[in-house]
Amino acid sequence: MENQQIHLSIRNVSKTYANGVKALNKINLEIPSGMYGLLGPNGAGKSTLMRTLATLQEPDEGSIYLGETDVLRQKEEVRQTLGYLPQEFGVYPKVSAEELLDYFAVLKGIMQRAARREVTERLLKQTNLWDKRKQKLGGYSGGMKQRFGVAVALLGNPKLLIVDEPTAGLDPAERVRFLNLLSEVGENSVVILSTHIVEDVAELCTNMAIINKGEILLQANTQQAVAGLEGKIWRKLTAKNTLPAIEQEHRVISAKQLSGRSLVHIYSSEDPGNGFELVAPDLEDVYFSTMTGNYVQPQQVEEAIQL
Ligand code: ADP
Repeated sequence: MENQQIHLSIRNVSKTYANGVKALNKINLEIPSGMYGLLGPNGAGKSTLMRTLATLQEPDEGSIYLGETDVLRQKEEVRQTLGYLPQEFGVYPKVSAEELLDYFAVLKGIMQRAARREVTERLLKQTNLWDKRKQKLGGYSGGMKQRFGVAVALLGNPKLLIVDEPTAGLDPAERVRFLNLLSEVGENSVVILSTHIVEDVAELCTNMAIINKGEILLQANTQQAVAGLEGKIWRKLTAKNTLPAIEQEHRVISAKQLSGRSLVHIYSSEDPGNGFELVAPDLEDVYFSTMTGNYVQPQQVEEAIQL
């Protein structure tokens, strides 16, 4: 049982808020254990989906299964095995990390003091907060608070760990530390990293999906998605005012401003000429070509529907 691989299955999940916003539109995702990236711009529907998976809100329709467990109907069972690190993580500023973690452990149902002490010690060490365990949480940096959030989320060895926009407020060093910590979480759990930051997914996630306007645009193995663009991404550094003409002629997937000029990436199966050079694609190219409608994997879409 211990090593059994768990799988999260999301079928036809939709949600329209009272104000008429359709935040999720028939979402279908098959998420294996390991790190999974849910990538999309602000407003795409990520938090809505994460809160739904965390049993904090109901969809209008659809089903969600974690292994054999019906997430929408067996909420208490899911909560026992769920770790959720929300976007905004409030802490009680006047208590220490050690005290608060112990308190959350009680809420998770770890009643024996000795067992609690063992778990909290292990998690505080794992999140590199052991030396700071007596310090009040009010004095913690953003990165330390996030790592404390991970310690809380990992209580009770969750089979499903949901991390919503974790690196947004972190400085680069804290971000690296945080991502390393996440990557240590067992391969036997489903870990979903919801983010608008492409590098977070590129560095960590074996599988991923891209969501926009409540719809899944791509579901893929991260490396395969990048490999699928091999030989198709071309770039050129050009004067900003030539951009409209390039857009007329080519399938522009991104244009970055670089000291007054534009670094343009286009999608083309053949050599576009015009001074464009072929580049090795990366996940950002996957993201932007998907968002601009240039990257479709008919085979994968079909597979997803058949599952
Ligand atoms: P993301 O996490 O990708 O930024 P959200 O799930 O937060 O996306 O939001 C998806 C859409 O739903 C957005 O248009 C947002 O404004 C809207 N939305 C989110 N929560 C609510 C709510 N409680 N009531 C009404 N609209 C909401």
